[in-house]
Amino acid sequence: MPELPEVEALTAFLRENAVGHVVTRVDLAAVQAIKTFEPPLSALGGLELTGVARHGKFLDLDVSGLHLVVHLARAGWLHWRTGLPPAPPKPGKGPLALRVHLDDGHGSRPASGGVGFDLTEQGTRKGLAVYVVRSPAEVPGIGRLGPDAMQVDRETFVALLAGRSGQLKGALTDQTLLAGIGNAYSDEILHAARLSPFKMADKLTDDEALRLYDAVRVTLGEALARQLGQQAATMKGEKRSGLQVHARTGLPCPVCGDTVREVSFADTSLQYCPTCQTGGKPLADRRMSKLLR
Ligand SMILES: [Zn+2]
Repeated sequence: MPELPEVEALTAFLRENAVGHVVTRVDLAAVQAIKTFEPPLSALGGLELTGVARHGKFLDLDVSGLHLVVHLARAGWLHWRTGLPPAPPKPGKGPLALRVHLDDGHGSRPASGGVGFDLTEQGTRKGLAVYVVRSPAEVPGIGRLGPDAMQVDRETFVALLAGRSGQLKGALTDQTLLAGIGNAYSDEILHAARLSPFKMADKLTDDEALRLYDAVRVTLGEALARQLGQQAATMKGEKRSGLQVHARTGLPCPVCGDTVREVSFADTSLQYCPTCQTGGKPLADRRMSKLLR
């Protein structure tokens, strides 16, 4: 799932490659992806893409004052395209959700097929969401966002956690508390901070809270540095290659060599290193204890 570093890198990529181009047409291929109806998608046609911003994990394309806002959800991605076919795609076929055609940046249709980008989503559970709004704050998920995980200062971060009951894993991934961190980077941040995902957010010592703050900055900053300058297509592989514990169940922890373990939930899972994070003790896993009973 694209999180803050990936969406920030996509933002930078689009600033460099798409800003200054006029949207010539938008094709909707997955009807359920569009969450607004006024202004219509067609209102973007003929308008220049003037800016790109990120709000948490949302991508915000400023199209001359109208905003095309995208949430890529779990399995969505953006693909930069050259040589786009002029014919509209068949709706409901394959992973394509939305296609944006752009002009050549000089007011005309490019000679060798169109440039633009596709929003795609793999899998059967569809969560990719697209909004056309006059202000990004009209998107409910953006209006509720907490401070950005890369921007928040240390005092605010410590105060936010101190005022939060519940486990660290849930706190870090709650977009209303802190914007931009999802399932993968929360595992990585907790590993870097040597903290259990189940530790209570409001029970951190000063030292632990500062360690966590530093881990947020370093983990997201390093991931972003790896992603920047990558073509959109290679970002996913780049994300995977930098991970220490997330999605590495059963593999050795790169820090201490212990085996990375997993706790599974109904529709998600987390990974951690017992030696680095939980004093060597494995955390209870509902699925595992069911198997052992
Ligand atoms: Zn370890």
